[in-house]
Amino acid sequence: MAATVLDGNKIAGEIRAEVAAEVKALAGSGMRPGLAVVLVGNNPASEIYVRGKVKSSEEVGIYSEKHTPSNHVTTAELLALVEDLNRRDEIDGILVQLPLPTQVDSKRVLMAVDPAKDVDGFHPMNVGFLSTQRPGLVPCTPGGVMEMLRRSNIQIAGQDAVVVGRSDIVGKPMAMLLMNANATVTVCHSKTRDLPDVCRRADILVAAIGRTGMVTGDFVKPGATVIDVGMNKITDRAEFERFFRGNEKREQAFARNGSTLIGDVHPEVAEIAGALTPVPGGVGPLTIAVLMSNTVRAAKLRRGVPVPVG
Ligand code: NAP
Repeated sequence: MAATVLDGNKIAGEIRAEVAAEVKALAGSGMRPGLAVVLVGNNPASEIYVRGKVKSSEEVGIYSEKHTPSNHVTTAELLALVEDLNRRDEIDGILVQLPLPTQVDSKRVLMAVDPAKDVDGFHPMNVGFLSTQRPGLVPCTPGGVMEMLRRSNIQIAGQDAVVVGRSDIVGKPMAMLLMNANATVTVCHSKTRDLPDVCRRADILVAAIGRTGMVTGDFVKPGATVIDVGMNKITDRAEFERFFRGNEKREQAFARNGSTLIGDVHPEVAEIAGALTPVPGGVGPLTIAVLMSNTVRAAKLRRGVPVPVG
């Protein structure tokens, strides 16, 4: 039987509507949340992401501004910009779009962001808050996955969860969030032995690897919930055929655009999983929606308004 599709666009829409209502209420009491996005240089993918973030802010009523230093910016210049944004009271969230050019010390720049305005949740202070279950700011993509699970009424407490990937921005915070929600969590990576066997134990399997369609049917326990965080682009016809032969909708999109997006999960998993996030339209839309709710959360935290633990 085909898996239930976990519709990220629908859930992101619900979150955005809630955020818009909160922004309206905060703005009514003179606390309109503000987000500053720093986009360095002309990386086309970063430009698309930032455009989406600014547009989404406008839609929910968050004040936003974009800073676009040139590709030749120095670490000192970026630090000065971040310091200025840290000081400005009307800015609640600061997002430095990665990657930064090689001459910039990215870690130093990210460390300079005031943890109270760190809406990406990457600052070690927020990492610490997450691991000790204190209210802070949680990275947007794993935060979005938790929203997806909760709003889809998927049981987390007591379940076996396997996270494949241990990056600072997805895998590790994902594992921490699932553990905080009382799942029994296993984290896998490129050195894990017998990966399909380990994954087959999962009631909830999260793939955050960056490898096209790597999670095949033999990784999945029948009926498991499978969350596909991966975003990989296919441009090669033979590779396309390997994954999507006979899929008319994909065929049309591939013919039109010369490419298609695929996750880390093989399409055959749809026949085995109980629930599955599509790519595109699964985890991706939730990432931006959670950035919006993180900005509102930052605005509240900074003003001492109580918020739940992330
Ligand atoms: P990353 O930093 O490259 O981390 C990849 C992780 O996968 C690493 O921990 C790596 O293990 C592990 N891995 C790589 N090959 C493996 C293999 N053959 N077997 C088992 N584990 C393996 O990537 P990331 O930033 O976490 O992103 C992961 C994916 O999510 C990418 O496709 C990215 O585009 C996507 N993403 C999507 C969103 C969204 O909004 N939907 C947001 C962020 C990222 P080691 O640690 O041992 O190297």
